[in-house]
Amino acid sequence: MTREECAALDVRDPLARLRASFILPDGVIYLDGNSLGALPRATSTRVREVIEQEWGGGLIRSWNDAHWIEAPRRVGAKIAKLVGALPHEVVCADSTSINLFKVLATALRLQAARPQVSMRERRLILSERSNFPTDLYVAQGLADLLGNRYELKLVDFGAVIGAIDDSVAVVMLTHVNYRSGAKHSVSSVTYRAHQAGALMVWDLAHSTGAVPIDLNDARADFAVGCGYKYLNGGPGAPAFLYVADRHLKAITEEPFAQPLSGWMGHRAPFEFAPGYEPARTIDRFTVGTPSVLALAALECGVDTVLAAGVDALRAKSVQLTELFLRLVDERCTGFELHTITPRDAAYRGSQVCLTHPHAWPVMQALISRGVIGDYRDNGDAPGILRFGFAPLYVRFVDVWDAVELLRETLAGESWRAPEHQERKAVT
Ligand SMILES: *Cc1c(COP(=O)(O)O)cnc(C)c1O
Repeated sequence: MTREECAALDVRDPLARLRASFILPDGVIYLDGNSLGALPRATSTRVREVIEQEWGGGLIRSWNDAHWIEAPRRVGAKIAKLVGALPHEVVCADSTSINLFKVLATALRLQAARPQVSMRERRLILSERSNFPTDLYVAQGLADLLGNRYELKLVDFGAVIGAIDDSVAVVMLTHVNYRSGAKHSVSSVTYRAHQAGALMVWDLAHSTGAVPIDLNDARADFAVGCGYKYLNGGPGAPAFLYVADRHLKAITEEPFAQPLSGWMGHRAPFEFAPGYEPARTIDRFTVGTPSVLALAALECGVDTVLAAGVDALRAKSVQLTELFLRLVDERCTGFELHTITPRDAAYRGSQVCLTHPHAWPVMQALISRGVIGDYRDNGDAPGILRFGFAPLYVRFVDVWDAVELLRETLAGESWRAPEHQERKAVT
């Protein structure tokens, strides 16, 4: 495979024109859109408009006149299209961690209220040992808050399905693993969870905007996802959450089924009543005042994904990751690189992860040459070089150039330079 052949792929790429919707610095090959999406061209203008006209000019009137109050639902409805949900099943709010707390607590509450067929107590929240830590921490904290009536059980990626039985209250998984790029089947795992009487909570942080998801088709119960990764919403963008319509209905008579009972989740926040009465809609999963500026930025990011269509994004993402794997195989042999991402595209998301005994300095050296990926710790095993391929703006020639710079970095051992050894606060 030559660079010219990669350039030819770009010429034929139906999404190529969308790269122009982003501001990308010259001399940078950005392979970290799975961690922080790039800046859409529309965002600065839109956010400036919200600041200067809606806030500066409209002042408090803009809650109504500029539709600020509707933004969590409006942007949620747009995201619903990307995850196979109905518009009223998704809302934007808070962070992924907080949303996970809310939906996990609700799932446990719903499960406890169900008539149980088996005599066995459902004490387990089942997850994956290599799940993103915040998900595990949130589950641990919630179990503690509930008097340790529940216990978090962790198993390896491949052992999840086999571990689902009638002792499990809720299965809580991340669709695409942040460290390996391996992807679960939303439909198969959800099906197995339901068969065993468990409820299913999905974290879609590493898949929304790059991998097609059909929550309704899979009959998923709850989900959360991130606004600043493939959705390009900007650093710390609001996250989203999904609650299946049947569960929204099932909890209507239970005021505290969603335990963060803030005023935005009230049936009528502007009645200022002393007692909490939840909204009968997904609004009850919101808590406090929405972050209007951040939602404006997130909406611009979500629009870039909608403009492409998630099936087209997935098709290109598979091509990009295949190309990267193939070029690493062809051009980077003998450098102690080891691929930990599944080789079969059906089982991976939009990132490829390689281990190397000196992964940290190798990534720093690569970044110094303009290839921005990131590093992930891997316990006692060799560290991980993580490369995300955001199909909206990564080109096929970028893949070729990135592999070439990786090859040069390893061949010339430029990563041994002292300036590449020092650990930073954020990896
Ligand atoms: C990125 C990510 C998060 C981020 O959570 P925040 O609350 O936004 O910090 C959570 N879970 C997973 C699986 C992620 O990949």
